Amino acid sequence: MSARLESTPPLSPRLAAHEPQLDQLVSRFWEDAVEVDAAPAVPAAHLDAMAALGLYGALAPRAQGGMGLTPADLPAVTERLASGSLASAFVWVQHLRLLRGVLDPAAPAHLKAWLPQIAGGAIKGGIALVGLMPGPPRLTATPTPSGWRLDGEAPWVSGWGMIAVLLVTARGPGRTTVSLVMDAEPQAGLTVRPARLAAMNATATVHLAFDAVAVGRSRLLSSVPQEDRPEGEGLRNTGSLALGLVRRCCQLLGPTDLDAALADCRAQLDAASVDAMPKARAAASALAVQAAHAVAVAHGSRAALWGEPAERLQREAAILLVFGSRPGIKQALADHFTSHT
Ligand SMILES: Cc1cc2nc3c(=O)[nH]c(=O)nc-3n(C[C@H](O)[C@H](O)[C@H](O)COP(=O)(O)OP(=O)(O)OC[C@H]3O[C@@H](n4cnc5c(N)ncnc54)[C@H](O)[C@@H]3O)c2cc1C
Repeated sequence: MSARLESTPPLSPRLAAHEPQLDQLVSRFWEDAVEVDAAPAVPAAHLDAMAALGLYGALAPRAQGGMGLTPADLPAVTERLASGSLASAFVWVQHLRLLRGVLDPAAPAHLKAWLPQIAGGAIKGGIALVGLMPGPPRLTATPTPSGWRLDGEAPWVSGWGMIAVLLVTARGPGRTTVSLVMDAEPQAGLTVRPARLAAMNATATVHLAFDAVAVGRSRLLSSVPQEDRPEGEGLRNTGSLALGLVRRCCQLLGPTDLDAALADCRAQLDAASVDAMPKARAAASALAVQAAHAVAVAHGSRAALWGEPAERLQREAAILLVFGSRPGIKQALADHFTSHT
């Protein structure tokens, strides 16, 4: 059993009743960590256990089979899950975007009808947010008589093989962003190229190439004017993946000043405005690297052996430096790692 940390984010009252099960799940994730590190995919049992706890419907109202959490409740859960298995938490986090999509009041009724299966985890989802990226379009959606045609690429899609559907954002006609819910399976025009990741390879992350992939009209979730969104938007919860790694390091180390650093970093993320979020995210990623290095130093030369916690945590922390990045995060991290004081 892991040591109880002083710096533990409180769970919302809606979740507190589930705390023992959540702690049990995190312990199980950690026990499986070496096996998951070497696996090509997160065990289905991990995802199903999260679903059984209700986490696939975290944000759905209770009346609709969900847990009724608010977005502000999520980071405390994400941090705990990520402290057990970064890969499993990572795959789950992607699903939440699909959940949010169908919960949107503007979502079409026939896609909203999927909510019970999505909230219960019978339909698990991933995301390809490539259509939100600024600059020239990488993926386009063109209307056809039967629906939409997708052309281009989605360079990073996690959860392939574990997810039933993929929420794809693409550039539509007339400066629009089109969101489609497509089946996450082999199909005409779709080329799937697995990425071999240095850590978290069990997230089953792939590159997708689209050559006239057809998506039916009924799978249109939204088509909205393309907007220049502030880069800090929607980044709070993924910051807790890094906090989760720090949390695990603190548990391995026992009491150190890193406990206070974790609490500070969390408070900074919680308080961050959209403009301040990239810096707060960068601070969390930098702290994850520092914490993983602290564990390596504490564990001594066994940290050099593959499969040792310190070795794996260092590889995972390195990926958290680049996942979900934005220019402001990248700049803050570049400044942090190249500064000379
Ligand atoms: C292991 C791993 C798994 C990933 N899994 C997924 C996944 O399942 N689904 C997914 O959509 N992405 C996924 N990503 C991509 C990730 O969310 C970021 O898009 C990526 O880390 C940014 O990479 P980059 O810094 O090289 O920017 P580039 O790819 O060079 O991006 C160019 C520009 O686009 C901006 N940008 C990038 N992503 C977004 C975005 N989502 N919204 C708005 N602007 C953006 C960047 O800030 C930058 O200005 C994954 C990345 C990694 C490393």
